[in-house]
Amino acid sequence: MTTRFDAPRPAEGDERRLPGGDWTCEICGSPACEFFAREANYTLLRCRGCRVIAVWPKPDRETLAASYARRIEAPGAHDYWANYLSREASFRAHGRHVLGLLAPHCRPPGRLLDVGCGPGFLLDEARRAGWDVRGVDLAEPFVAWGREHLALDLRLGELEAHGFPSESFDAAVMIDVLSHLMSPLQTIRELYRVLRPSGVLFLQAGNKAEAAAKQASDDWETPLHLFHYTRPAIRGMLEREGFAVERMQFASRIHVPEGGRRLLGRLPFAAAAYRLLCRAWGACLSKTAASDGTVFVVARKAHMS
Ligand SMILES: [Zn+2]
Repeated sequence: MTTRFDAPRPAEGDERRLPGGDWTCEICGSPACEFFAREANYTLLRCRGCRVIAVWPKPDRETLAASYARRIEAPGAHDYWANYLSREASFRAHGRHVLGLLAPHCRPPGRLLDVGCGPGFLLDEARRAGWDVRGVDLAEPFVAWGREHLALDLRLGELEAHGFPSESFDAAVMIDVLSHLMSPLQTIRELYRVLRPSGVLFLQAGNKAEAAAKQASDDWETPLHLFHYTRPAIRGMLEREGFAVERMQFASRIHVPEGGRRLLGRLPFAAAAYRLLCRAWGACLSKTAASDGTVFVVARKAHMS
């Protein structure tokens, strides 16, 4: 009998693609790993401690920047920025969904930070809901657009580079960013520092590392995704860094056509019913062995023991 965590059998030659004794898991500190898969000339290693899957060798920043540029400038994707902006309504709807999930844990007024904010659609929705908002993003076109069109306070660069004052935010959100982070622990620690005591962190992150194996046809976006997580790994990492996880569920984005979204925007009752439906669906998914999806996590800054 196999379990979902059984290591895939390395193909001939893959054993040689393991690090020679100098590997340490950046998430849990374990020195033990196993081969998981190959993609885009990189090896994906699974930590034997926390089960996180990490790209090895980890590319440097220049290599990563070139990989992002290749992805964005690929044939047919030349209008990446315009395509992204054209999905504004859908990003705003998702932003409202996230704010709705955050509401039972943390409500405005207060200061909210979005790490990896893109053009700032979630932040604009948060501001409308009463939050005082700030955002950081690595993409200069997004930061420039959000400043110009939405008059948002968006900062270009990594969170750690901006030195926000300690304990200056009531809430922070990070949507689909965790897998891309060069140094996830460093970023989580910075979020802990800038959140006030009992401040709330909302993560939307992939849990692909719960998959038993990677199909050859799957695109895990290596090396743009540097780490893949499991739900226990995310929980463990947050708890070790001083957060108390208050909620963890599979993301439940039930597709609503554009017309329906406009209707939801106008009818608070329908929007609340939609959120309830998503919540029930998420709870339902969480009871199954579903993996390879996305999770929503709400964690509160606790006192370090
Ligand atoms: Zn680990």
